[in-house]
Amino acid sequence: MMRRDCQSIEIVGGGLAGLGLGLALRRRGVPVTLFEAHGYPRHRVCGEFIAGLDDDTIGRLGIAPLLADALRHRRVVWHRRNQTGQSQFLPAPALGISRYRLDARLAEAFVEAGGSLRTQTRIPQEAQPAGRVFASGRRLRPSPWIGLKVHARNLPRSTDLEVHLGDQAYVGLAGIEEGRVNVCGLFRRRPISPGKPPAHSSSLLLRYLEASGLTALAGRLREGNLDEASFCAVAAVNFQTEPFRPGRLCLGDSLAMIPPFTGNGMAAALQSAALALEPLSNWARGGPPWVDTVAAVNRSLRRRFRVRLASARLLHPFLLEPWRQLWLAWAGRARLLPLGPLYHLTH
Ligand SMILES: Cc1cc2nc3c(=O)[nH]c(=O)nc-3n(C[C@H](O)[C@H](O)[C@H](O)COP(=O)(O)OP(=O)(O)OC[C@H]3O[C@@H](n4cnc5c(N)ncnc54)[C@H](O)[C@@H]3O)c2cc1C
Repeated sequence: MMRRDCQSIEIVGGGLAGLGLGLALRRRGVPVTLFEAHGYPRHRVCGEFIAGLDDDTIGRLGIAPLLADALRHRRVVWHRRNQTGQSQFLPAPALGISRYRLDARLAEAFVEAGGSLRTQTRIPQEAQPAGRVFASGRRLRPSPWIGLKVHARNLPRSTDLEVHLGDQAYVGLAGIEEGRVNVCGLFRRRPISPGKPPAHSSSLLLRYLEASGLTALAGRLREGNLDEASFCAVAAVNFQTEPFRPGRLCLGDSLAMIPPFTGNGMAAALQSAALALEPLSNWARGGPPWVDTVAAVNRSLRRRFRVRLASARLLHPFLLEPWRQLWLAWAGRARLLPLGPLYHLTH
């Protein structure tokens, strides 16, 4: 039921942070309009495994039914170049589900709950009226990093999750619905001659794998059945934190993107939505002024994510640079890597 005594909330961006927040606010009777620049369903560059999503967040947002059929991944095997390295059991299962499916499910649930969803509508980032929340994904800044992804059908795998470390690149393979495997990587942009592949096809990903020394993985994918319609690419991937500003509320990647190797960006987006939920409901019902509400949410966001982001950014170069990867492989073999504590620091 829409409450007439409530002020309405506007959300800019219908990814996980925006849809998760919008859905939960609607279920509390708050009027919500959500603006999304694109539409649903749609493929997104994402590793599509969700690590570190806690039951409290799932419960507060009321999204358990939407995740019920997600795969539960437990075992990760690390590869460096073409060599198999250490395997690891995650302290808690990571969920495997495509963004194509998950975002569309959230959007449908939001509309069913009475939310007003305006797709194909881009809102300028500058204006900041009271009641407007930014969940518009990462800010576009110059960056050497690009993300590429494609779904593979019938790709044999030895384990739930594979991570392949290459030269200035890493790639994750994760099982998702319908027996598919999502293949998604972060790469330093580089020339990939000879023979330019078409810019928007999986051959770009295969060329990047080869250029990064991941030739065995590229060979496996070449023999597999890649779903061209699922291929997508993003540029300007960056890991800077948006400065907190009075009255401006940014959630999920629009606040900060955690390095993707953690598989924690989606969980963090949903967690930031859950943190903002009660303060925004209170504001809508005539609680503290907008500037104070935003300041309170920003304090909770800082407390929850500061150490996690700092730890992940510190570790990130160890996955990308060959000499650091060698050190990592040596430490892994010598059983000197405290994988459990590192997982807890970055999730
Ligand atoms: C290579 C790579 C691999 C990754 N792998 C994983 C992984 O395995 N696991 C994981 O958890 N995370 C992963 N991530 C990160 C994860 O995708 C993000 O953290 C997550 O999508 C953040 O959700 P969000 O809702 O904040 O933003 P997004 O999902 O980016 O959603 C933002 C939405 O806002 C819309 N929008 C933007 N600007 C406007 C505007 N002006 N007006 C209206 N709408 C707008 C966009 O169209 C978009 O739909 C990966 C990221 C990359 C780049």
